Amino acid sequence: MRIITFDIEDWYNHDDYSRDFAWEKHEVRIYEGTEKILSSLAERNLKGTFFCVGWIAEHHPQVIKDIAAAGHHIGCHSYQHELASRFTPEQFKEDTYKAKCIIEDVAGCEVNAFRVPSFSITASNLWTFDILTELGFTYDSSIFPSTHEFGGIPAYPAVPSLLKTHNGILKEFPICLGHFVGREIVYSGGGYFRVIPYSLLKKWTSRDSYVLSYFHPSDFDPGQPNMPQLPIMRQIKNRVGLKGAFSKFKKYIKDFDFVDVLDADRQIDWSECPIIDINDIR
Ligand SMILES: [Zn+2]
Repeated sequence: MRIITFDIEDWYNHDDYSRDFAWEKHEVRIYEGTEKILSSLAERNLKGTFFCVGWIAEHHPQVIKDIAAAGHHIGCHSYQHELASRFTPEQFKEDTYKAKCIIEDVAGCEVNAFRVPSFSITASNLWTFDILTELGFTYDSSIFPSTHEFGGIPAYPAVPSLLKTHNGILKEFPICLGHFVGREIVYSGGGYFRVIPYSLLKKWTSRDSYVLSYFHPSDFDPGQPNMPQLPIMRQIKNRVGLKGAFSKFKKYIKDFDFVDVLDADRQIDWSECPIIDINDIR
């Protein structure tokens, strides 16, 4: 099963370091970036799940309307793109609820899927999942089943699973991992997708029974401004492989079929999937 997802945020929304949220001053590139993605999916008649930042829905609602009009599955990627690990439970609930309401209002449909910014859920803030079920979410794709700069739950299985929270069950679609010379690599999105040779991407995507790909409009935008306030390694990671990434993406979705989270849900036999109790996660 291959699932395609996108995080709809502009190039300046994923500054996880400076905490400067005065975003109006930045050059807006989200329209062009999203349109590129939508037209390439339309050429292949593919549907994806789009996790949208609430701030984008509020300030650039046409972007979300275009995604919804094309028949894609709309999810929530927080309001402020702040790390969940920096929130109290009350703040997380407030931010998520605000985003859900704005996106639903703009898209004209219920928002039932969530992805946390920058995979910022660990064993220390599992209360996030209790809040998601409390707010009525059915699907989540936040778990990074390894270590990550801002989060990750290494013990979590890297396959679709039923996550039992204190308020109900979430259908969890974790990020998938490939194994390469003893290291776990996220090849299906972000920087690794851009730098790994296409022949390897194709080999791993053919081999693995569960592939969850995730992209951002900025992954395909070599013209985006630099962010000098970020650590130098982060600046390099953000820019590596940008040139040529979009043609690689187009080749990828030409060579493989993908579905959105809703279609994946219909195809999965959930009785065969792991059931993970939130109390057992370490
Ligand atoms: Zn994001």
